[in-house]
Amino acid sequence: MSLLTAGEAPATEVSNPLEEARAQLAAAVGVLGYGEGLHKLLATPRRELTVGIPLRRDDGTTEVLTGYRVQHNFSRGPAKGGLRYAPNVDLDEVRALAMWMTWKCSLLDLPYGGAKGGITIDPRRYSQAELERVTRRYTSEILPIIGPERDIPAPDIGTDERTMAWMMDTYSVNVGYTVPAVVTGKPVSVGGSLGRASATSKGVVTIALAALAHRGLKPSATTAAVQGFGKVGAGAARFLAEAGVKVTAVADQYGAVHHGAGLDIPALQEHVAATGSVVGFAGSEPLPAGELLELDVDLLIPAAVEGVLNEANAHRIRAQVIVEGANGPTTAAADKVFTEAGKLVVPDILANAGGVVVSYFEWVQGNHAYWWTAAEVDQRLQARMLQAWDGVVATAAERRLSLREAATVTAVQRVAEAHQIRGLYP
Ligand code: GLU
Repeated sequence: MSLLTAGEAPATEVSNPLEEARAQLAAAVGVLGYGEGLHKLLATPRRELTVGIPLRRDDGTTEVLTGYRVQHNFSRGPAKGGLRYAPNVDLDEVRALAMWMTWKCSLLDLPYGGAKGGITIDPRRYSQAELERVTRRYTSEILPIIGPERDIPAPDIGTDERTMAWMMDTYSVNVGYTVPAVVTGKPVSVGGSLGRASATSKGVVTIALAALAHRGLKPSATTAAVQGFGKVGAGAARFLAEAGVKVTAVADQYGAVHHGAGLDIPALQEHVAATGSVVGFAGSEPLPAGELLELDVDLLIPAAVEGVLNEANAHRIRAQVIVEGANGPTTAAADKVFTEAGKLVVPDILANAGGVVVSYFEWVQGNHAYWWTAAEVDQRLQARMLQAWDGVVATAAERRLSLREAATVTAVQRVAEAHQIRGLYP
């Protein structure tokens, strides 16, 4: 049995996500023929803030954590992007994730730039009260640079709607009035949008079904494996199963399970709610975690962390269609292998954009103080995702590019145009 947990790659193969993000930008800049100055401008974050976060632990001791907020670009509007709590968060990872947010918002034609935040913390080792104190102190440290017209945080790995409620409250108390639109992904009771919680996974499945159709594959004749069973993976597995796809394997950070006839996803979700992991699910057989990515399935959805599809395993991946639920799951080396093998890889900035699309809807609803029905949110989400898909597929065909290149080129070009028409100050 592999000693690696789901999502982990051998240490020597782990690439720096920032290098991956920069390589993707460089490829797009090459296609667009931009000069060095514009390339440098697009590669460099506008602002980076590193903060020390003193935390009083429940036992009375004090610990100091480190947090970041990187605002990559503002050319098309306020910065937008999630907040990640994970033990391996560092500045380069946050920089990469912020750059990907700029391209994601641009590709989906949202009036935002890109940002990301992170705290180097393993949230599983802290009580709710401690996490609340960490979140409130982090929010007050980054307060000068966030706001509904400046930078709007949202959930990411290790954070959720409760984290957003604490952030919104801390910001509001500090400015002296309630500002729902300072964060998205809030609970519905304080101005969140219906459909936000399931938006990323619904968007992933909308795009996965479009990708399968593009390859002439019928959902009912398709098998899938999903890596990650959190906010993105669990919903994706469920919506795929509802669409008739046989989800034969899923993994979380504790292990993986497999069932050749298709897992009963609602029952698996109940098991996870009761035990905290997919491991030990009665309707399945255990699977060594490292094997999930290499299973003989039609569709692979990496929905965990960066760099899991890399030089070390790319040649062994059998799925024909890969839809990136995670941010940055495929390294440049793996991407090359997949392109040569004729696989269809739908890039993160398109595939997982459903979350930020409904974040935008939440911000719009908050600014109007007028709320849409769940059906309206879903219908508008679906329309935006498919419009972006059609655009990327058309650009890929016209310019003979991979879907990732086409998506990045489209996104980068829009940001560069906004920058150029605004002009360089001073
Ligand atoms: N964290 C999500 C992402 O990576 C959502 C960001 C947002 O809604 O602002 O796209």
